Amino acid sequence: MIVGAGSAGCVLAARLSEDPSVSVLLLEAGGEDRKREIRIPAAFSKLYRTDVDWSYATVPQERLAGRQIYVPRGKVLGGSSSINAQMVIRGHRADYDGWAANGVDGWSWQDVLPYFERSTADGGGPFEIAEHRDRNRLTEALVDAARETGVPHCDDLNAPEPEGVGYVRVSQRAGRRWSVADGYLHPARERPNLTVLTGAHATGVLLEGRRATGVCYRSPGGEEEARARREVILCGGAFNTPQLLLLSGIGPREHLAEHGIELAHELPGVGRNLQDHLAAGVLAATTTGGTLYAAESARSIARYLLFRRGLLTSNVVEAAALVRTRPELRAPDLELLLAPVLFVDEGLAPPPRHGVTVGAVVLQPKSVGWVGLRSSDPFDSPLIEPCYLADPEGEDLRVLVDGVRLARKILAAPAFAPHLDEELEPGPTATTDEEVADSIRRLAQTLYHPVGTCRMGTDDEAVVDPELRVHGVEGLRVVDASVMPRLPRGHTNWPVVMIAEKAADLVRATMALP
Ligand SMILES: Cc1cc2nc3c(=O)[nH]c(=O)nc-3n(C[C@H](O)[C@H](O)[C@H](O)COP(=O)(O)OP(=O)(O)OC[C@H]3O[C@@H](n4cnc5c(N)ncnc54)[C@H](O)[C@@H]3O)c2cc1C
Repeated sequence: MIVGAGSAGCVLAARLSEDPSVSVLLLEAGGEDRKREIRIPAAFSKLYRTDVDWSYATVPQERLAGRQIYVPRGKVLGGSSSINAQMVIRGHRADYDGWAANGVDGWSWQDVLPYFERSTADGGGPFEIAEHRDRNRLTEALVDAARETGVPHCDDLNAPEPEGVGYVRVSQRAGRRWSVADGYLHPARERPNLTVLTGAHATGVLLEGRRATGVCYRSPGGEEEARARREVILCGGAFNTPQLLLLSGIGPREHLAEHGIELAHELPGVGRNLQDHLAAGVLAATTTGGTLYAAESARSIARYLLFRRGLLTSNVVEAAALVRTRPELRAPDLELLLAPVLFVDEGLAPPPRHGVTVGAVVLQPKSVGWVGLRSSDPFDSPLIEPCYLADPEGEDLRVLVDGVRLARKILAAPAFAPHLDEELEPGPTATTDEEVADSIRRLAQTLYHPVGTCRMGTDDEAVVDPELRVHGVEGLRVVDASVMPRLPRGHTNWPVVMIAEKAADLVRATMALP
């Protein structure tokens, strides 16, 4: 039984149901992925705060001017892969070797590589990694300008040790989003041994002693229970999976007591170790048109409807640079996102005019937060405290300030300068580090990559073992972004697909045991 039909849940449901002797039940709180905007690549922010979004927010962030940061998460078949920006950048060899070096056996770069490969067309899998159909000329100018500032060219941002500036590959097919549901789940739905229930919101894991036997859930028909013959596998994502464990009495003793939840199994790490990519950067108006500001023009809509071409095929961040801010670092610690549009107000407002965004991202944040319960009501949103920019050395902020400075150099370089009208944010008056830092505190947003809240490991704070089984509870696994011990220096969707591909083998191996 699988809870959550997001990136991980879709892969697992499809892989496990390949064996006709296994019956798979997949519960999803959201609905079918029929909304038109899901398919249109550039329209992902139109899905924000709609019925396919859990529409979370963090608690007020002390170091971000007290703001509550908006946190979209997919609530629909495909999960966040149905509303994401479709970028495929899996990170650096050192990320996965780092997991293994910290006691997570079986997850080194060499170990995970076959699962990345198996997910793609080259390995016979359905995870799509496509070139952009219609690259924006201002994106090309930004890439050329980055090279002029000395950032090396990178042909393949998914090389084992990627570094430099290059064009992003995307989860798209023929100009449309190709979510993990499109690739894995939908083709498998004809199988008689796979049942998919949408509108089924799991509210707790059923336990008999220390064994998980099923889940209770609310569906349009009322309160229901489903029993698992073999395993319960939680794939609710980095916020909802720890929330469900806590609601089921699995977690830190004091936190459960605070909410009057009876302790079923003490596991102090549930919800801890929340890591996320924070982004801030430079917004610049351009004298040149052709940016995504015009994506909803009649011409653009017609081109898309008739030929699946043009501005609406853009995933917004069309190119990226992976950069080391200090030469002695082993791998990049900064990502620049190159987008031919003004991405304003966390993507919640339309672009006010033609322009570009060069976003900076702290790839290896030192700030670590947590997720917990607001209340014992399963329909309440979880309490999200990412502690952005809270690292005592101020290293995360330094990386972002360096990123803004590099972004400005790129915008001023000869290949881009002719297109530049004026810098809107931080704005020309922000010159000192402190002034730049102020604009970061005012404008930073999530890059939507929460991980780590049910982390793998063998120490006392680990929630699952390296085979993704919840420590101390039989018949219960977690398979989603929450098991990552550390954020990769990339984006999280393909790594989650990899984790679920490997999990399918781990589950099958258990089933094969006598
Ligand atoms: C706006 C946005 C942009 C992003 N852009 C990119 C990008 O460009 N590239 C990239 O690599 N990554 C990107 N990401 C991140 C990436 O999509 C996620 O890391 C990945 O999809 C997470 O997979 P998951 O399986 O852990 O969780 P999800 O895909 O979020 O799936 C969780 C699923 O579980 C369901 N669920 C939750 N709770 C319950 C419950 N109690 N009962 C039943 N069902 C439940 C949810 O509705 C959801 O369908 C983005 C994410 C967002 C939100």
